[in-house]
Amino acid sequence: MRFSHAGLCTGLSGLLATARALRSSQPRKQALAVTSPLLLEGTERVLVTGGAGFIGGALVRRLLRCSEAQVFNLDKLGYASDLTSIGEHPRHQLLRVDLTEAEATAAAVRQADPDLVMHLAAESHVDRSIDGPAAFIESNVGGTFNLLQAVRAHWELLPPERRERFRFHHISTDEVFGSLGLTGRFSETTPYDPRSPYSASKAASDHLVSAWHHTYGLPVVLTNCSNNYGPWQFPEKLIPVVILKALAGEPIPLYGDGANVRDWLYVEDHVEALLLAATRGTIGSSYCVGGAGDHGSPSERTNRDVVETICALMDQLQPQGAPHARLITRVSDRPGHDRRYAIDAGKITAELGWTPRHSLQQGLEATVRWYLDHLDWCKQVRQRAGYSGERIGVTSTA
Ligand code: NAD
Repeated sequence: MRFSHAGLCTGLSGLLATARALRSSQPRKQALAVTSPLLLEGTERVLVTGGAGFIGGALVRRLLRCSEAQVFNLDKLGYASDLTSIGEHPRHQLLRVDLTEAEATAAAVRQADPDLVMHLAAESHVDRSIDGPAAFIESNVGGTFNLLQAVRAHWELLPPERRERFRFHHISTDEVFGSLGLTGRFSETTPYDPRSPYSASKAASDHLVSAWHHTYGLPVVLTNCSNNYGPWQFPEKLIPVVILKALAGEPIPLYGDGANVRDWLYVEDHVEALLLAATRGTIGSSYCVGGAGDHGSPSERTNRDVVETICALMDQLQPQGAPHARLITRVSDRPGHDRRYAIDAGKITAELGWTPRHSLQQGLEATVRWYLDHLDWCKQVRQRAGYSGERIGVTSTA
């Protein structure tokens, strides 16, 4: 099945109406400033960090399509960055800044003069954090610290009306909660227990954001989401790697016994959750965001199941005369590989009316089709990054 994202602004208006109705039936901690179905009404300047990355790019595209806001995209343009999906737009401005540089970060925040900050910039690949943890600590911990300091200075000087409306939204991961056994799900009250250098750096950044709220009163909202997938993801993570290996007829690596369980979230569904949390979330709160399975089930799947589903889609879309599943090859496990992640997204559904709108099967089919239609892009970004699909993150030394 093919589907497009045309009309998703309409979908968001519906979600916003539901969120308003839900919030109006509950004791309200803050007045809702926005009554129009138009997203981000009254928010004129948005600073997105990491907007040249996979999720940040989807967010920037949506902001440009569904709001009138000026979008400032702070990104250092690292190996996984690409601006092709955004292109030229009169309301989009790239601020090429590395968050590890405090002065440049402060200058960028002053230039953007934001009403809303959505912080996605981070080193994001667990395997790379195993090979080189330093960059993760510098960007994800030090970078978040520099940004918080710059944003706090900006927020404290805002006139009262803008100060009242201002929000800092920190985008994080469910990996901060560690690893689940066979049962249970992560929720907003799950204790932190990160296991990889990546998840530890994200956990540290979550704590910094929370501390800046409690200590300085910065109006923050946090979200912790599961594994994202969809178009424009740099082809080093599981789903695009499997598609490209299957297409090339090369061995498809399956870590360990393939029984590790992940919850999969289609990136466009995630963007809707982010916009709702940023504009309607309760200050100081966090929200867990997870994907949808088929027929309303959770989208938990073993890695083997996901790989086999992609192989079956490839059999239909790009038949090779023999099942692609024959290429699946077990390789040594990732060091410290978390066994199971699963998300209870009940809070964001109950409070803000968000639910994911793409089942895993729909999202995977759209994603496989997208990669098959964008092979030149894959080649180009991999070449630019000097990465050709090889295994990384096997060693435990930096
Ligand atoms: P990505 O790697 O595709 O993009 C991250 C972007 O951040 C890149 O463009 C990079 O250049 C930029 N960046 C990194 N360090 C920076 C720095 N020091 N200064 C300025 N820019 C910097 O990542 P993504 O998959 O889009 O993830 C975005 C956010 O969502 C991250 O914070 C990540 O932890 C979180 N997250 C991602 C997933 C997922 O499945 N992809 C799941 C949960 C949470």
